[in-house]
Amino acid sequence: MIISIASGKGGTGKTLVATSLALSLKDRDRVQLLDCDVEEPNDHIFLKPTIAHTEAVFIPVPKVDEGKCTYCGKCAEVCAYHAIAVLGEHVLTFPQLCHGCGACSYLCPEKAISEEGREGGVVEWGHSDGVEFAHGKLTIGEAMAPPVIRKVKEQANNEGIVIVDVPPGTSCPVVEAVKDSDFCLLVTEPTPFGLNDLVLAVGTVRELDIPCGVVLNRAGVGDKKVEEYCQKENIPILLTIPLDTEIARLYSRGITLVEGIPQWNGSFLELFDKIGETVNERISDTKR
Ligand code: SF4
Ligand code: SF4
Repeated sequence: MIISIASGKGGTGKTLVATSLALSLKDRDRVQLLDCDVEEPNDHIFLKPTIAHTEAVFIPVPKVDEGKCTYCGKCAEVCAYHAIAVLGEHVLTFPQLCHGCGACSYLCPEKAISEEGREGGVVEWGHSDGVEFAHGKLTIGEAMAPPVIRKVKEQANNEGIVIVDVPPGTSCPVVEAVKDSDFCLLVTEPTPFGLNDLVLAVGTVRELDIPCGVVLNRAGVGDKKVEEYCQKENIPILLTIPLDTEIARLYSRGITLVEGIPQWNGSFLELFDKIGETVNERISDTKR
């Protein structure tokens, strides 16, 4: 089962939920935690994994052989990202804008474009206290997170439970990280900002046809609007974590919730069981 942990905005407690869910399950099943928040991965701060492998991620970018080029402009026409331009008898490429889709080299009538790799980041994987771990780190200044996220997700095994920590927001990196999940947990807080970003995140996962539920973090701050929205939209609130200085203190020291306050272990196991029920119901519905 693949469970993604997402939030419409950063700082809502995604890491807290992802790390504690992974640790609570390690005695039950094979568990993997894949940190796909490649711009700012921080699950490793809490899990302190032993890294066994590191691999660079290369993004293919075009290289033009001007000896073969006729300056027809076809490559610039097909590039949706304006990463290649033809000005008179010059072809200019802008590697930082290139998404590595390969359309320009495929469609160049003179076969004047080859691809060379630009290092976009690294993926590291290993293990931590019974949890298999992988994360990606985007190169500083690099904008193309999806290839690094894809590489992190390649580490997913087809057995056991895979927990994917998704980048915050609702853009391409989020879609790349969330897609193929069996369930998406949306972590939010009961504030107007939390509600605004939750509504956007729900729109994204519904578009991807992935069932979702909410973890309400820092309950006690703000208002009841998130709860009212979830009720109206029939989205279950599967776990509530109160605003608590002890939880904040543990987090600031890089200690997971289930290690710092072991009573939370049972709550995370219940959370997983509720997710399992939803996933199983959906599987039975599709079989009918
Ligand atoms: S499509 Fe090929 S031949 Fe045409 S301008 Fe681009 S590189 Fe040159
Ligand atoms: S590989 Fe795709 S994104 Fe990159 S320059 Fe070519 S068409 Fe544009």
